[in-house]
Amino acid sequence: MTNSPRHIAILGSTGSIGTQAIDVIKAHPDAFAVEVLTANSNADLLIQQAVETRPNVVVICDERKYDTVFDALDPLGIKVYAGAKAVASVVQMDSIDMVLTAMVGYAGLLPTIRAIEARKPIALANKETLVVAGELITRLAAEKGVPIYPVDSEHSAIFQCLAGEFHNPIEKIILTASGGPFRGKTREALSTVTKAQALKHPNWSMGAKITIDSATLMNKGLEVIEAKWLFGLTPAQIEVVVHPQSIIHSMVQFEDGSIKAQMGLPDMKLPIQYALGYPNRIKSDFPRFDFTKYPSLTFEQPDLKTFRNLQLAFDALDRGGNVPCIVNAANEVAVEAFLHDEIGFLEISDVIEQCTQQIAYIGSPDYDDYVQTDEETRRVARGRIKSVV
Ligand code: NAD
Ligand code: MG
Repeated sequence: MTNSPRHIAILGSTGSIGTQAIDVIKAHPDAFAVEVLTANSNADLLIQQAVETRPNVVVICDERKYDTVFDALDPLGIKVYAGAKAVASVVQMDSIDMVLTAMVGYAGLLPTIRAIEARKPIALANKETLVVAGELITRLAAEKGVPIYPVDSEHSAIFQCLAGEFHNPIEKIILTASGGPFRGKTREALSTVTKAQALKHPNWSMGAKITIDSATLMNKGLEVIEAKWLFGLTPAQIEVVVHPQSIIHSMVQFEDGSIKAQMGLPDMKLPIQYALGYPNRIKSDFPRFDFTKYPSLTFEQPDLKTFRNLQLAFDALDRGGNVPCIVNAANEVAVEAFLHDEIGFLEISDVIEQCTQQIAYIGSPDYDDYVQTDEETRRVARGRIKSVV
């Protein structure tokens, strides 16, 4: 590594990715320092993290928590701000070397745009940003010469497989999917599954929204769209394969037919560390994979008829324009409603499909179009949900 530590802004530090990123940073004080922490509403954890890592600035989005955070951190000389607007402005601070986008959902879009405008390299966990506005984000990043390093394990795997292959075209990528907790279930069985069952992922411990997305396979759908933008692929170049052991994190097939895979135990700390430390592989004590403990790694087709969200995401990718933005917003609202027991598991797809049919298509959206599409979709989706409860 270089002599001075890389100063990282962690957006969404109190979540699953955020807390693991802090573990990675604390394990390598010579390589990394925390410059900014932001959180939505968990003031207690944000304060604890700031006391431990001594950032320059913290932002709490929930303005009602400002006094609590200020009273705890101001005596330590840590600057405290509140509100979503503050997140979008602190990412431009001169002292930041890299921005890790680890907040969940559409809220990631504006701060990511602002960070790219300020030429901050992005370690991107917040896949929703690329789903909503992949065209805008990748164009802006290219204009500003800003790299986007993937944190999502599948995309990190592809990125790692592409090291040293910059001039070799990709024939296709193979995104692996665990299949989630409901792999193999029929639609009839899915009609009665509970949120508690959906929240039990077999291989990964993650935030609630992405865990439900993994159960519906929407997570893989979002990742297909994310991959298109990160690696400049056509839909035909992206294949999804269910691999229940989650050991192969994804693969790249080149034009000579050779396939490269990146493997390891499922542990998000590795892709987080690879993105934060790129291009260096930093020595770690993460548990090692043992082939003899996994005598069979298996692969199967995803079931697009049962798990309709994945098909809806493929359709959105084909239609382009503001359709992925519609799918994302409808999914966020529907997942929230499922988590509040307002709708059943299968109705998540119904809400998304209805929104894609009802909201006006925009072929080449600009930022304001995305904002409007997101708002309108949320309104329509909530209306649909109210009419069924
Ligand atoms: P999480 O729910 O555990 O944490 C979300 C974080 O974002 C929290 O710090 C929260 O305070 C903050 N946040 C929530 N809403 C916000 C808002 N409106 N404005 C600002 N901040 C807000 O989520 P997670 O599992 O850590 O996932 C974060 C992102 O990383 C998601 O986009 C997810 O798809 C992606 N991701 C997560 C994993 C994983 O293993 N958890 C893997 C790959 C990708
Ligand atoms: Mg993933």
